[in-house]
Amino acid sequence: MSGYKLLFSQLKLSTFRGTRWTSRFHEGFGGCGKAFLSSNCPKVCIVGSGPAGFYTAQHIIKARQDVEVDIYERLPVPFGLVRFGVAPDHPEVKNVMNTFTQTAKHSRCGFYGNVNVGSDVSVSELQQAYHAVVLSYGAEGNKSVGVPGEDLAGVLSAKDLVGWYNGLPNCRELSPDLTCETAVILGQGNVALDVARILLSPIDILKKTDITRPALEALAESRVRRVLIVGRRGPMQVACTIKELREMVNLPGSRPEMVAADFEGVTEALKDLPRARKRLTELMLKTALEIPSEKVQERRKNASRIWGFRFFRSPVEVLGNPNHRVAGIRLAVNRLEGSGEGSQAVVTGEVEDVNCGLIISSIGYKSLPIDPSVPFDSRKAIVPNSMGRVQQAAGLYCSGWLKTGPTGVIATTMNNSFDTAKSLLEDMDSGTLDVSAPKTGSQSIRTLLDKRGVKLVTFSDWEKIDKLETRRGEACGKPREKLLTVEEMLNVART
Ligand code: FAD
Ligand code: NAP
Repeated sequence: MSGYKLLFSQLKLSTFRGTRWTSRFHEGFGGCGKAFLSSNCPKVCIVGSGPAGFYTAQHIIKARQDVEVDIYERLPVPFGLVRFGVAPDHPEVKNVMNTFTQTAKHSRCGFYGNVNVGSDVSVSELQQAYHAVVLSYGAEGNKSVGVPGEDLAGVLSAKDLVGWYNGLPNCRELSPDLTCETAVILGQGNVALDVARILLSPIDILKKTDITRPALEALAESRVRRVLIVGRRGPMQVACTIKELREMVNLPGSRPEMVAADFEGVTEALKDLPRARKRLTELMLKTALEIPSEKVQERRKNASRIWGFRFFRSPVEVLGNPNHRVAGIRLAVNRLEGSGEGSQAVVTGEVEDVNCGLIISSIGYKSLPIDPSVPFDSRKAIVPNSMGRVQQAAGLYCSGWLKTGPTGVIATTMNNSFDTAKSLLEDMDSGTLDVSAPKTGSQSIRTLLDKRGVKLVTFSDWEKIDKLETRRGEACGKPREKLLTVEEMLNVART
């Protein structure tokens, strides 16, 4: 067959590939676009389109000119926690979406949204269609505190609250009751500080962000005036970082309220702390103990909202009222055993009750198994792996929070995803990963999904959603007004 005939017969074949065909067409004869190359080209599939999925794809595509990568995503929209986790008032963090978009639009990258791997298609079906499968589906569960009363109305997980204000479809119905004065947040990581800040931020700040309309309306009516951020250990063990603490200290309309006794011995210990921890602790000490400048004093005097850390406290029981709603929380008073990052909280036997109407548990996320064929370490809640190679599962890899557990910022996730991509490419080069037999890739998976009635969302479908959201946002002075249901997203994708 002549080159042109071959091209046009493949063009016909690939019409079902939708938008991807167009970009591959532009890649020309030299690339590994499926429309032009033999179907022998190595095919990699990635599950999940958060930072881990996109950074893994980016590294593979850049490092090798002959590999195709397809990303399958459960939701009709990409970017994982960058869209549904990162706080609305941190728009600069979301700029990574531009880099991810470049990867998604690369001629050797496919994006298939609205595909729930583990239920719409199994991991072993993906393994049959691809030479390698990288699991990058994040950590969608959360650790539970495990105390009596945790199921009372008014106890929420930070994961759900964050999902609610960021427009995660399955958190749409959360409608948190914000009629109480005091909220308690359990955990002192950056998620806890994000939640505290969103609960206390002036509405004029929030209304210029991409926070959802229902959340904005609820927060405008909120009567929460005091947020206590409770940690089981001390000031030198908080899990948040200095930027987030500084944002709390400078939050307009709010003032800090700490317990001076919690800082006993901290000044003396400063000199031995590593640099980042030292700076963070200095800011905390300054906030807790120093008399501020007159200007700051004036600002704090006029503040109507209060936030504060409560240290050396572990939840023991959620206290309810006769209506089965939260009325307070019983906390065990702890002391520390050992020193530094590794110190352990030990109960003293003393307890303390705090009145509050809302409890938000922010003690960490947790990965969940999605497919019984994939090894899963339930204790660590990760897929067991060495350097991203899933143990005892040839051709299967993992990256991101599923690989490491739910810690680390986007840059950390980027590095661990690049490492997984490197492991995969090393295996391809060494022959450990056999890429000699042709694989069908997205072609057979799309047919399978079509038979199962799954409506795929391509990246250009997502761009329609993106455009609409941006337009709706512009109309009310926000960067975007998010669509809140999968149904709405699919409707726009189909237009
Ligand atoms: P995720 O981002 O969770 O991506 C996983 C993707 O997999 C999701 O799109 C999900 O829908 C998809 N998926 C799940 N199950 C399936 C399935 N069965 N089939 C197909 N797809 C599936 N870092 C910063 O640097 N700055 C910040 O400001 C910041 N803010 C944060 C705020 C919050 C509330 C949280 C929780 C984290 C924040 N982080 C921040 C950390 C950052 O979000 C993570 O490092 C990063 O998102 C982890 O990437 P991931 O791809 O492993 O997981
Ligand atoms: P995290 O940083 O691990 O913090 C979890 C907090 O919960 C810690 O204070 C921890 O205390 C506490 N905790 C854990 N188990 C507990 C238990 N059983 N009882 C009581 N307290 C318990 O988790 P995160 O806040 O969910 O954040 C996850 C990751 O995302 C972090 O790496 C974070 O930096 C990142 N993130 C970054 C940003 C940002 O850059 N702006 C924003 C949000 C999230 P101990 O230390 O005592 O265990």
